[in-house]
Amino acid sequence: MSEQKYKIVLLGPPASGKGTQADFLAEKLGLPKISVGQLLREEVDKGSEVGKQASEVMESGGLVPNAIVNEVVKNKIEALGEAGGFVFDGFPRTRIQAKILDTLVKITHVLFVNVADQEVVKRLAGRRTCSKCGKIYHLEFNPPPKENACECGGELELREDDTPEAIHKRLKIYHDETEEVVEYYKEKDLLIEIDGTPAIEEVKQEIFNKLKI
Ligand code: AMP
Repeated sequence: MSEQKYKIVLLGPPASGKGTQADFLAEKLGLPKISVGQLLREEVDKGSEVGKQASEVMESGGLVPNAIVNEVVKNKIEALGEAGGFVFDGFPRTRIQAKILDTLVKITHVLFVNVADQEVVKRLAGRRTCSKCGKIYHLEFNPPPKENACECGGELELREDDTPEAIHKRLKIYHDETEEVVEYYKEKDLLIEIDGTPAIEEVKQEIFNKLKI
């Protein structure tokens, strides 16, 4: 199997739409999407040791300690094998994580989906996540096919970290820690900036155009 051309990282504030866009990209390129937040939520639901350690900090909107996140990421990358491509959503979120990722794999593209704080707050209030498959909807901008139900039949829920206090904390962490990751990849000349404000379909087109896919 030849080395994959696309080892993509998606960066951006909470609710920038990076999870949704990661789904589109993964589908278009036939690659797995790796959402670290989703992997952690699955651990919490399973009641595993990792899940127990992560759940409280996740509910409050804080960052899960590196030791836990890195383990989850490392296992996933190993399972994919060296040549496998992927679309990463929600990792790395700190400069330290970015450096660790560099030791595991060579990233080829970093998409920075940017939106303003006030838009983040507006979007998160209407966001609903499928409790079964993790698909994300917005009551107004991207409504589910049936009230409170995902296309897979799963029930939709408001994430515990989409409360106003947790949203505030997540935005602060984003500005304090994740913006450094944007700089990190800019210095490496890997950063592709995308305006995440327009409608989902338009953002998708901009991403596809910039990646020439
Ligand atoms: P997300 O679904 O990407 O918004 O992630 C949900 C939550 O999972 C975050 O608020 C964090 O508590 C945790 N999490 C996800 N990715 C990371 C990461 N790279 N580092 C630390 N914690 C993370």
